[in-house]
Order: sequence, then C-alpha cells, then structure tokens
Amino acid sequence: MPRLEEYRQIVGADTIEELRLLAGYLKGRTMLHVNSTAVGGGVAEILNRLMPLFSELEIAARWELIKGGEAFYAVTKKFHNALHGDRQEIAPKDYQVYEDVLDQNLSQMNCEADLVFIHDLQPAALVKKRKGLKNHWIWRCHIDLSQPDSQVWEFLKPYVEAYDACVFHAPSFAQKLTIPQIMIAPSIDPVSDKNRELEPHEVEAILERLKIPTDKPLVTQISRFDYLKDPLGVIEAFQKVNPYVDARLLLVGGMADDDPEGAQVLAQVQEKAKNNPDVIVLCLSPTSHIEINAIQRASAVILQKSLREGFALTVTEALWKAKPVIASAVGGIPLQVVHKYSGLLVHSIEGTAYAIKQLLSEPAYAKKLGQNGREHVRQNFLLTRHLRDYLLLSLFILNRQSDFIHLSLPDGTLKSQTSTIINP
Ligand code: UDP
Repeated sequence: MPRLEEYRQIVGADTIEELRLLAGYLKGRTMLHVNSTAVGGGVAEILNRLMPLFSELEIAARWELIKGGEAFYAVTKKFHNALHGDRQEIAPKDYQVYEDVLDQNLSQMNCEADLVFIHDLQPAALVKKRKGLKNHWIWRCHIDLSQPDSQVWEFLKPYVEAYDACVFHAPSFAQKLTIPQIMIAPSIDPVSDKNRELEPHEVEAILERLKIPTDKPLVTQISRFDYLKDPLGVIEAFQKVNPYVDARLLLVGGMADDDPEGAQVLAQVQEKAKNNPDVIVLCLSPTSHIEINAIQRASAVILQKSLREGFALTVTEALWKAKPVIASAVGGIPLQVVHKYSGLLVHSIEGTAYAIKQLLSEPAYAKKLGQNGREHVRQNFLLTRHLRDYLLLSLFILNRQSDFIHLSLPDGTLKSQTSTIINP
C-alpha cells in the first residue's frame, strides 16, 4: 500500500504538504468511487493506487464495482467503441440490456457518500439513484469523447447532465453540456510495482522467467488485446522494417473483466505472428505489474499504435522509465508525447515503421526523447498531481454555492456560506 511519505523524494516536500493541507478541509468527508472492473485497464490501475492515499488523508473513500454479465459487457464494449468514434452495430435491445442491468445494480448499491465518483459509461446511469440523496455526483470519463457516435452519445447525455459535473482527460474531449466540465489528466504511481525502479538483475531474472529472449533489441507494445489498440497494425509495421533491423517485436497483453473481445483479438494476433520468429506474443495475468515494469525497462522502444485512445497510461509508464516512445496522435497521447521532444507521434503503419527504424538506428536521439519524456511525466502525470486535482475538485463541488474561493485565512477554517475560504 502506498504511503504519502514515499513520494516526498520524487515530487518534493511542498507537494506533500499541499496535499495534507487540502485534505484537511475534507477531513471526515465520505467518498465513493464506482467502476466496472477491479483489475485490467487504466481505471482500475489508478483507483487501486489512489484509494489508500485518500484513507491516509482521513477521507473515508470506498470503491464499489457494478455487477454485469456477459451480455451487459458485450453491449458496453460496443458503446465504448462507439463513443470513441468507432462504427458499431447497435440494436434497440442493447439500450434495454444496459438499462436493465443498471436498474438491478441501483437496487443493490449503497450510494451514500458526500461525493460519488462514477467512472466511465458502464455505471453512468447509476446517477438515477441520486434522487432523495442529498449528495454530490461526478461523472469521470476516461475515454476520448471528441467524436462520439451521435446515437450512443444522445442516449448517454441525459444521464451525464444529471451529474453535478463531469471530468475529462483533455480539453478536446469536452462536449456541449449543461454542467461544468473539468479537465484532469490521469496519472501513474511512481512507487508502485508497475513503475518503481528495478535493479538490472531483477529485470534480467523476470525476462528469463518469462522466456523473453534479449539477444536483440525489443520493440514492445503493451495493451489489452483490443482492436482499438491495433496490435495487427503493429505487426504489419514491424514486418515492414524487419528485413532491415535486427530486432524483435514483443506484444504483451492481458484481459480485463469488462472487455469480452480480448480472446478473439488475441487469437488473430497469434495467427498473424505465427510465421515470424521475431514476433513474440505474450498473454499475462492482469496483476503482472512487476513483469510489465521489467519488460518496459528491458525494451529499446515502446509503441502505442492505438486507433483510438483515452489517455494511454502505457505511454506514461514508458516515458517515466525514460524510454523512447512511438505513439499514435490520438486521444490523450499528444498531451504526453510532444512530437520530436518527448517521443514520436505517428499517423499510419508506414509512419510507425519509419519511426521504429529511425529510433533503433539513432540511439542518442532515442535516449534524449526518453529523458525529456521522463521529465514531462514528473511535471504533469504523477499520482500526487492527480490526487491534488481530486481534492481541489471535491472542494469546488462541495462549495459551489459560494460566491468566491479565497485561498488564505489565518485560522485555517473553511467558510462556505457566501464565500469559500481555503487556507493554510
Ligand atoms: N496493463 C497490464 N497488463 C497488460 C496490459 C495492460 O497491466 O497486459 C496495464 C498497463 O500497464 C496500464 C493499463 O493496464 O497501466 C492500461 O491503461 P491504458 O490507459 O494504457 O489503457 P486502457 O486499457 O485503460 O484502455
């Protein structure tokens, strides 16, 4: 379990003090986070790390999962893809499946908390439950909503507008809505098993255990086996450069409970990779954090050739390890990869192939991109910044009736009738 003190060396004492100060105004408040899976994917990754820190700051935060079956997750995956702007066949009964499952969850879930954070579309309709509860509801969206399928978005929008506010990763995801929209980028945890420093011998031992050969540079993409992560496109890009570079492609993935397409995509990836001994496909359990850490550290180049993307924590993780990253210019990726500064942005299979060849043949340039990337993540995408944003957001939501927010008052009390005063 992470403890705040562990971050002091990485982010500085001021950041830790600021977190304690802000949390002081929320002491005793209760918070509920709801999503659809405890492991697999970025949302679970972040909540697993944030929850203990809320508790340490004496904010009673709990995390609940909605319960859905196979049919529900097949529908929500279609909705997810459609909201990302991908074409999907959606039938009227799909909306009914969604509503029915959410209604069942409504009757079972206890939503009593001062602040209720609902993550992504799967549990979005839980907001129906707020009637009769005098609390605050925030919809935390983790996907790229910049070009949503209009039918699915029109279905979801009335639910979204029943919240007090919604949170997006990037300004380009904002929508025309009647509620405030707040921009908060995701984050990674620098002290987790996924990201903490590893000794070279630890990395070596893990790769040996996983039977990953290290005789050639590794070009790696780590992602759930999902069409929108384009693993097949990654293989095509690699095959274009394979005759000219002595490297191996490593595709590492796992399954998430709320993603029913994984097995099918994995089978297609294995089929496409089977005749090339330089392409390795590895399926890991969703709790293989230290293994992912070691693989990222052992790689020469990290790819994230997604067709659509919310943010891509896999990119953040790789940049934090000072790895040169080649990633598609979609979703939240350009917030992280500033082209030719903290990585290379690509738009096609050909572009990806060209970038792989370039970074493998120019190690000094690749190293510089990685170093810039690490600093960019330190400044913007670590868990402590994310925690601070959630604390500020909570204070804003709890004190919205106030005319103004004042950040300094000698006795440290928070006033919120007509004015809000937040102060050390
Ligand atoms: N991940 C993992 N094992 C895998 C694939 C992914 O642990 O086999 C992790 C990855 O390291 C990252 C998260 O799952 O922390 C994926 O988050 P991202 O934002 O990249 O994509 P999402 O899956 O949420 O679309």
